[in-house]
Amino acid sequence: MTNSSQYRTATRLVHGGIQRSQFGETAEALYLTSGYVYDDAEQAEATFTGSIDHYQYSRFANPTISMLEDRLCLIEGAEACRTTATGMAAVNAALLAHLKAGDRVVASRALFGSCHWIVSTLLPKFGIATEFVDCADLAQWRAALSRPAQLVLLETPSNPMLELVDLHAVCELAHSAGAIVVVDNVFATPLLQQPLKFGADVVVYSCTKHIDGQGRVLGGAVLGNRKWITETLQPFIRNTGPAMSPFNAWVLLKGLETLSLRVHESCRTAAALADFLSARPEVTRVWFPMRADHPQHALARQQMTAGGTVVTFELAGGKDAAFRAMNAFHLIAVSNNLGDTKSLVTHPATTTHMRIGAEERAKLGITDGVLRLSVGLEDVEDLRDDLAQALAIPTVARAAE
Ligand SMILES: *Cc1c(COP(=O)(O)O)cnc(C)c1O
Repeated sequence: MTNSSQYRTATRLVHGGIQRSQFGETAEALYLTSGYVYDDAEQAEATFTGSIDHYQYSRFANPTISMLEDRLCLIEGAEACRTTATGMAAVNAALLAHLKAGDRVVASRALFGSCHWIVSTLLPKFGIATEFVDCADLAQWRAALSRPAQLVLLETPSNPMLELVDLHAVCELAHSAGAIVVVDNVFATPLLQQPLKFGADVVVYSCTKHIDGQGRVLGGAVLGNRKWITETLQPFIRNTGPAMSPFNAWVLLKGLETLSLRVHESCRTAAALADFLSARPEVTRVWFPMRADHPQHALARQQMTAGGTVVTFELAGGKDAAFRAMNAFHLIAVSNNLGDTKSLVTHPATTTHMRIGAEERAKLGITDGVLRLSVGLEDVEDLRDDLAQALAIPTVARAAE
């Protein structure tokens, strides 16, 4: 096993957590096995009593998955990690493993749709009270956390409006209310923001996004301290079975090897496209955390090392203009996914945020002209050309009418 804790992130992404078999393979081995055999009955007994370490069953653990979990720990600076089949399984496990009837959850209003559903619809069914706050409004966090709570769930930057939560401040408020803080860190990736350093207790990922980053597999991860992961999360995962497939773990290990190259390149392109869009007459507003016109620009510099791979912008002509632009892209594909090598655009009001309703969308600032662009790895000039021709089309078309 490579002890890569002395190395820097880019090296850890390539070497972290490797456990070579007796064959000395270069690449991580793919252990597609559901079960494990024991040398004898005594070894089986010792495995079950916990007196020796031996794989038992792939719902509990698997060597390929262990390599992925160890590598994720090294990147995040976390003591322990458990992976799951999807990002939503990770969020669900983190919440349900920790909470019980009578508990109270405070959550950011700007959550990924299914996370919002768990907090607003699922948890109350089990007698867990929930309260939403506007993520950028510290006064609302302070008010909500002036009463005891058991868990805070937040996402920063948020989807799709890229609003930030002040991690340090909210973690302090949460802890004094008795709550643990669970951060959905998908938009920032483990490279641009490490919530544990600001006081968060648990970090969750949809590995489906940048960690695979190539649009192939689903996956999720929960990271935290060893005690919480082994005593609180692990029994829930073992017994309810949201386990990741070893095949997907292997794909994600290979994804991590290029994570830094991909994310940093997409971030550079996203920053350039944000600047380009803000100068276009068709665009009324651009949201990108590292731009000086982002309302929380100073906070972005404090807790993130780059602005991320998503740019959100609003077109002057509302839904019509948004749809016309989307339909005019040659290179940028219409998709609600994000964090892919291919640039993807979505219209949140009619897709990802359709179900929350107009009133909730208005609270989040998601107007009908808003488009979310997930920036991939194409040449920045080609993306700029595609945006330019698509934005220009409505005026040309109208002139021809
Ligand atoms: C995609 C996503 C999820 C859910 O992950 P899945 O892998 O699709 O289950 C949760 N949170 C955020 C912020 C996401 O972008």
